[in-house]
Parts: sequence; C-alpha cells; structure tokens
Amino acid sequence: MKDCFNSLVSTHLKLLSEYVNKMKIIDTIEAFRALNINASLGFVPTMGALHSAHLTLIKRSVEENELTAVSIFVNPTQFNDPRDLDVYPKPLEEDIRKCKNAGADYVFIPEIEMMYFYDEVLVETPKGLGDILEGACRPGHFNGVLRVVLKLLNIVKPKKLYLGQKDAQQLAIISKMVKDFFIDVEVVPCELIREESGLAMSSRNVLLSSDERLKALLLSKALFSARSLVGAGEDNLDAIKKNMVNILSGTSKIEYVEILARDFSTIEKVEIGNTIILVAAMVGKTRLIDNILL
Ligand code: AMP
Repeated sequence: MKDCFNSLVSTHLKLLSEYVNKMKIIDTIEAFRALNINASLGFVPTMGALHSAHLTLIKRSVEENELTAVSIFVNPTQFNDPRDLDVYPKPLEEDIRKCKNAGADYVFIPEIEMMYFYDEVLVETPKGLGDILEGACRPGHFNGVLRVVLKLLNIVKPKKLYLGQKDAQQLAIISKMVKDFFIDVEVVPCELIREESGLAMSSRNVLLSSDERLKALLLSKALFSARSLVGAGEDNLDAIKKNMVNILSGTSKIEYVEILARDFSTIEKVEIGNTIILVAAMVGKTRLIDNILL
C-alpha cells in the first residue's frame, strides 16, 4: 500500500516537473547526486508551506549564485511535539509552483525513509548554545535540525547556505556546526521578514484564527516597544523584560523573553549593535517565535 502511494507521489511529482518545465524536481538522493553540479550552487533548506520570507531567501540565492536548490522536507526529527508535526501545513504543489516562480533551478523533495537509518551516528548541539531558549523549551529540537542539515549539505553540496534570522538561534547553531565540522559552505544570514502588521512571517501563521492573529501581533508589539524604550535611553534588562511581559500577557502562554548579546552570551545591559531580544509564546495551540536585533 505504502509502495503504491510512494510510486503515485513520484509519478505525480514527475508530471508536475514537466508542467513547470525548466525547474527540476528531484525526489531521490541518487538523482540529486547524478546532477553533478559544477556551477556555484546556493541552497535554501525549508520545511515547505512557503511564504514570502522563504521566497526572499530563494530570490537572494538566485541573484547571488549560478544555480539555486531548495529543499522541501518536513523533518520529523526536529519536532519534539507530535501534534505540531501532524498539523504542520504541507501544500506541496503550491510550494513547487512558488519555487519555480522565484527562479529556483532544483527542488529537492526526499522522503523520510531515504533520509534516515536505524541507529545512526548523531551530531549534538553544544551545551551552552543548545540548552537555552528553544533548546530548553523544545528538547531534542536542535539535534534534529543539525542532523538533517548535515545530511542535506552532504547531498546538495552547495557553495552558499541561506538561513533566516527569524530562527536566530538555529542560524547560530548551524553556523557553529559548519565551523566546528569544517564544512565547506558559506552561511548567508538573511534578515527577518515581517508582514505589514509587524507579525514575523511563519508557516505556522496559517494555523491562526483571525482572533489569534490579533494576539500573535503582541510578539512584535512587545519587541517594538522594547526597541522604543531602548531608543528613549532605557538599558536595564529587567525593566525592558517587565514591559514586554506585560504586553505578552495577552498571549496564551509566554515561553521566554530574553535579552542577550548577539552571540547568545549574557550581557549586563543593552549594548546597541550587540543585542538580540527573543520571545516565544503560545497563541492558542500555535507556538510562535520572534526576535529583534538592537
Ligand atoms: P522553515 O521552512 O521554517 O524551516 O524555514 C526555512 C528557512 O526560512 C529558515 O532558514 C528560516 O529561518 C527562514 N525563514 C522562515 N521565516 C522567515 C522570516 N519571517 N524571515 C526570514 N527568514 C525566514
């Protein structure tokens, strides 16, 4: 039954590949390797449910490289909450069209069974950076992220890796893995993209009801309010956090509000040019994160 389903998906993808003509849809590791790409390749790993922020990353890669590959893989090993994985949106056909329109050359859509083996060698997040914030709230999450990104880098072999500042801690941890493991790729950090309302773009935003969307705005509101306070001369971390917590009390649950140096070490007070403020909160059943650099 499962084989039958996989072969149907594969045929479907190939038909779509013809439909979108030039852009190639690759659904096996062997097929990606067989491309034998010699040109400079930019790579944008995603979990699909693509929105304008993803497309900004893809377009940037298209501008800066001869060829661009996007991966769409809802990576099960980085979901610590099975419900989160279940409800994660998966609009594959729409995503493929968006990649094509953004100018991607290859979309890599592997299946879970191809990517993982029984009893694997694992990479582990470093204690300091891996155990705080997202690492503390989502045990195992970053180990899953590193595991899949290392695999994807070894398959795709890009020159440049495009990652968003929206997932600031993920960006820092992947950059550290690239450095620590001497991986031959340049990490390109891409700025956080917001909707006009201020809401940080996220694949999870489609899960919000209209009422929840309004509550979700409290995350950016709290961050912008912190920026205004700092602009007015406030540099005391507790005072800024207290103000943010007040604003965020309208969400369902605050998971963290933290003010750190941009390398995620602690600071005594706000240092303009070297500060990041991060928040995570639940809005209904949806978990949202956001951050701002000061
Ligand atoms: P995801 O599909 O959520 O795994 O995201 C794929 C890439 O897009 C990651 O590098 C994210 O950090 C990046 N990304 C997602 N949302 C945004 C955003 N609002 N602004 C900038 N980058 C983003």
